[in-house]
Amino acid sequence: MTTPSAGRPQQAGARHHGQWALGHRDPLNPNERFKKAEDPLLIRRRVEEIYARQGFASIPPDDLRGRLRWWGLYTQRRQGIDGGRTAVLAPEELDDEYFMLRVRVDGGQLDLTQLRTIADLSTRYGRDTADITDRQNIQLHWVRIEDVPEIWRRLEAVGLSTTEACGDCPRVIVGSPVAGVSQDEVVDATPAVREIVDRFVGDPELSNLPRKFKTTVGWLPDGPYETNDLAFLGAVHPVHGPGFDVRVGGGLSTAPRLAERLGVWVPLDEVPEVWLAVVRLFREHGYRRLRNRARLKFLVADWGVERFRQVLEEEFLGRPLREGPAPALPPVPLDHIGVHHQKDGRHYVGVAPLAGRVSGTCLAALADIAELHGSQRIRLTPYQKLLVLDVADPEPLVRDLRDVGLEAEPSSWRRSTMACTGIEYCKLAIVETKGRAAQLVHELEKRLPETKAEITVNLNGCPNACARTQVADIGLKGQLVAGPGGHQVEGFQVHLGGGLALAGNGSPGFGRKLRGLKTTAEELPGYVETLTRRYLAGRADVT
Ligand code: SF4
Repeated sequence: MTTPSAGRPQQAGARHHGQWALGHRDPLNPNERFKKAEDPLLIRRRVEEIYARQGFASIPPDDLRGRLRWWGLYTQRRQGIDGGRTAVLAPEELDDEYFMLRVRVDGGQLDLTQLRTIADLSTRYGRDTADITDRQNIQLHWVRIEDVPEIWRRLEAVGLSTTEACGDCPRVIVGSPVAGVSQDEVVDATPAVREIVDRFVGDPELSNLPRKFKTTVGWLPDGPYETNDLAFLGAVHPVHGPGFDVRVGGGLSTAPRLAERLGVWVPLDEVPEVWLAVVRLFREHGYRRLRNRARLKFLVADWGVERFRQVLEEEFLGRPLREGPAPALPPVPLDHIGVHHQKDGRHYVGVAPLAGRVSGTCLAALADIAELHGSQRIRLTPYQKLLVLDVADPEPLVRDLRDVGLEAEPSSWRRSTMACTGIEYCKLAIVETKGRAAQLVHELEKRLPETKAEITVNLNGCPNACARTQVADIGLKGQLVAGPGGHQVEGFQVHLGGGLALAGNGSPGFGRKLRGLKTTAEELPGYVETLTRRYLAGRADVT
């Protein structure tokens, strides 16, 4: 492993990138400064002993808007600030005294005790808010700093945490929601997910990365593996058998890139070792000067995968990796909605909350219903959906879930619409998203009730693309647009045809961003309706 050295001289020409591997340890931007000044993981005691006792006003700016993220806490947007002021107000003017708290659910796997704990924390401390994110986390809102130590204590008592749920560190490890139960799975990757989390989440050696680091590990391609920094996807080697193909350098936001194959095959027990090597490479060589060029994808783009693999093998693994085949990919993404057979003869049932929005009350009801029908296991999906596993007789369960708004036979619109947090709570947002998504789904269910085509619609409140603008069939990027009277109103720029379903060629691609293609938020249902009717008119095989 390359050891960063504070004493090494800066090399000419390297200043632009600021990699630790080249000897740069001088902070190159404000985020690098607060990370170097103190490891964000160390502030936990300060939260418990000072901030929780003395209140919001006692939190200094570097902790408030910086280090607290390593513990899953973001200040939420002050209510009533419109999107037009997002870019012009100072950060402190946008801050509310309440927090969003992100609970990491690695692999999306929850037992009922964990689910009930989150549900109770939501109703007790989060005004009954709970959103399932598109990375299998659960986010609560309206959390007070005074309540955070008790929330941590309760989460950790049941094996959950908010450690490194946000920040420049290894984020939640996304896994297949049907790991261990799917009939199509050859290897359950859960042991690798668990080992990575148990050994490395909260490790101070990995808590100062250039930027966030997103991983997915799963046999099935049923998550956004192509938009992760690092992805392990099931592949069968002709000699060595089942293992994992490795991709690096995916990411959306500005300058979107799909992860590229390294061309290697890794057995299950080597996944954590290879994961660690890639993270260390990123820590050492990743760019630290400009925040918007700091994700791993920029290094991969500059180096190319051949050089990336060579440095990985020579400097960080100390051995070559085996050549490997490409994984088999399905023609359309797998979202697991509906009733499905498990490999043990029981069933799993996938239900679709509206754009990931649930509540503590809803999650508590889900736990009771699951238990009543013999299940002890729940899974979250990276499409903001929920699965109940291990059900012997699914039909009564489906009926009971419907009664609490969790639909196993949703309209194609409810099934295929996602939304990021948006202006309700997010300080970067320009437009509202969750409410718009609900309104859009209800309108389209009325206007196009028979539609069977799964047209994915992803609503995003700003260019950051947290709900994956560029890989939806209809990707919506929030911005202000000209309204009827020439006034600026909430609206969206439209990216078309990014998902697998419309591409139809089995390979993912980015939606085309068409400059003139914009809609006001008000006109969005009509816009999507027109687009869909035109699309369906060109395809006789679906309605
Ligand atoms: Fe916030 Fe923008 Fe991400 Fe939406 S896409 S959650 S508005 S940063």
